[in-house]
Amino acid sequence: MRFSGLRVLKEGLTGNKGWKPHWRDPEPKAEYDILVIGGGGHGLATAYYLAKEHGLTNVAVLEKGYIGGGNVGRNTTIVRANYFLQGNSEFYSHSLKLWEGLEEDLNYNVMHSQRGIINLFHSDGQRDARARQGNMMLSQGDDAILLGRDELRGMLPYLDFDNARFPIYGGLYHPRGGTARHDAVAWGFARGADQRGVDLLQNCEVTGIDIENGKVKGVQTSRGPIRAKKVAMVVAGRSSQVAAMAGMTLPIESHILQAFVTEGLKPVIDNVVTFGMGHFYISQSDKGGLVFGGDLDFYASYAARGNLPTAEHVMEAGMALMPMIGKAKMLRSWGGIMDMSPDGSPIIDRTHIDGLYLNCGWNYGGFKAVPGSGNVFAHLIATDRYHENATRYQLDRFRTGRGIIDEESKGSQHNLH
Ligand SMILES: Cc1cc2nc3c(=O)[nH]c(=O)nc-3n(C[C@H](O)[C@H](O)[C@H](O)COP(=O)(O)OP(=O)(O)OC[C@H]3O[C@@H](n4cnc5c(N)ncnc54)[C@H](O)[C@@H]3O)c2cc1C
Repeated sequence: MRFSGLRVLKEGLTGNKGWKPHWRDPEPKAEYDILVIGGGGHGLATAYYLAKEHGLTNVAVLEKGYIGGGNVGRNTTIVRANYFLQGNSEFYSHSLKLWEGLEEDLNYNVMHSQRGIINLFHSDGQRDARARQGNMMLSQGDDAILLGRDELRGMLPYLDFDNARFPIYGGLYHPRGGTARHDAVAWGFARGADQRGVDLLQNCEVTGIDIENGKVKGVQTSRGPIRAKKVAMVVAGRSSQVAAMAGMTLPIESHILQAFVTEGLKPVIDNVVTFGMGHFYISQSDKGGLVFGGDLDFYASYAARGNLPTAEHVMEAGMALMPMIGKAKMLRSWGGIMDMSPDGSPIIDRTHIDGLYLNCGWNYGGFKAVPGSGNVFAHLIATDRYHENATRYQLDRFRTGRGIIDEESKGSQHNLH
């Protein structure tokens, strides 16, 4: 089934009765070439690119819940390529380019909106740091514009520029950054993978990983054992638990990150705005809700919900930055489980077990990485070579000390901010 304007019009006029389920609901086979554990954004994108770019279609995605029920459907949808360090900058640049062709590639409207991201700064030192970041972005081939206070006031008149504690000096503008509809990204990749023959197995929890003589042989699941030549672990916040099934201890801590949305309002916030000093960022969804969030709750947990002190902190920061937000009514809040790595950068690597691969450590920025991560991870699984844009994400960097200490340089220790 392909989408087209004509089809949407026809279905709209005939009660939308002709749409079919986007993907099949197959029974698990006894054996696959490749098993992808985790039906989040990264797992689905990995399966999609395995099929599309490497012709590997004897593949299953094993998801313990339902497609899109994890962080891929819980994030605040920001997509960007504004990293500072080599290792990250070429990877996120690669991912953003994939985003720019994604809707056409998937034939699916993921509502990718390049509305621009503005990172505010509040001191001369911060301006210097943002200028250096912008120069790195430009040298990587991405876009960055350093805005002064007056230019910014014209763009974002609703901000409190004269806040006594954090007066706004300007912002680093990344015009190609923006947002995308998170569930649609999961659905689009799921549909694309299914169309190419990948089995999407929902309600299929992996409970064990079978290893013989240092080689992976398959997995145990809530729907029975499944054999495979290769197994990829792509389970974000549950990475430590699943890797433990293979006897591995990961340098990952799972923490909660909350998000909030207000009632629908008329268009008021055109871009994504981040207020790092206050741990607050915001955008407006196409439905009109103001979508915003802050920093982690400061304890490790597998509960997909947050605590009230963090909610209060986020609200205070929002009020300090844009007092007008106090008039909006809060509608909902929720939490997701973040896989925090010590240097704040991800892990995309083989493991010491033959045929077992690992993708995790997305901290609180893995949504924008979905196409890039799936693309480079599929390359690694298919060819056993690192993709040219993901050569620095090895697991052993925490042993050798060659970390990529970029924007999340405090890793899980966010109280060091
Ligand atoms: C509130 C919030 C805001 C965020 N905002 C942003 C943002 O603006 N921009 C951005 O880039 N990133 C953002 N993120 C981060 C981003 O959402 C995550 O980094 C990313 O979604 C993680 O990858 P994933 O999509 O594959 O994870 P998930 O969707 O969590 O996928 C992992 C899947 O593995 C499954 N699984 C776990 N254990 C097993 C098992 N044993 N067997 C089978 N399946 C299993 C889970 O059920 C889950 O579906 C945010 C996250 C949160 C929570």
